[in-house]
Amino acid sequence: MCHSLLDDASIWSLLVDIDREIAATIRSQGCPCGGTLHSARYPRKPRGWPREQLGADYQSRLSFCCDRDGCRRRCTPPSVRYFGRRVYLGVVVTLSMALEHGLTPERRQRLVGQIGVDPRTLTRWFRWWRMQLPATRTWRELQGQFACALDPARLPDTLLRLVQGDDSVQRLIRFLALLMPLSTDSCPHCPRVALKPQKMPV
Ligand SMILES: [Zn+2]
Repeated sequence: MCHSLLDDASIWSLLVDIDREIAATIRSQGCPCGGTLHSARYPRKPRGWPREQLGADYQSRLSFCCDRDGCRRRCTPPSVRYFGRRVYLGVVVTLSMALEHGLTPERRQRLVGQIGVDPRTLTRWFRWWRMQLPATRTWRELQGQFACALDPARLPDTLLRLVQGDDSVQRLIRFLALLMPLSTDSCPHCPRVALKPQKMPV
């Protein structure tokens, strides 16, 4: 599932489009001080998928800076592509862990080779999904959105199964959108801006 889904180039461009749309909305609201937000992208070198397939849009993260002297506030909109400062793409961190249940040593080894991730990193991601994410405000708020109790011991599968969509791509994108509050700690328009995102292992 992981490979075939991500092999479809459309998912990568779709994620760029969503991030652009979110960023445009944030930018149109301007800085809370009344200043104008100017583009001030962060360079990024994401891991987890071949860069030539990701394209130039994945070499930066959309971000803004207020133009007013005395403010110059930084505003980094939420993203469906990046999990905070983590170097691996959110979609990779999600799908590699979603396959965790029942993964045989052979399949795991193949997956590790495909996404080029160290097994120790996979272990850190595992801990993050199961122990750190459930301690966040974002998680508590998510639980309120679903009628049934979410079992943190089976993350991210627990949440992936509940997200509705016409196909796997749509469900995955909606899943990433649910976790977007964790993708930034410097967006004055994000209601959860006061919340420091959980430290995410790279
Ligand atoms: Zn400002």
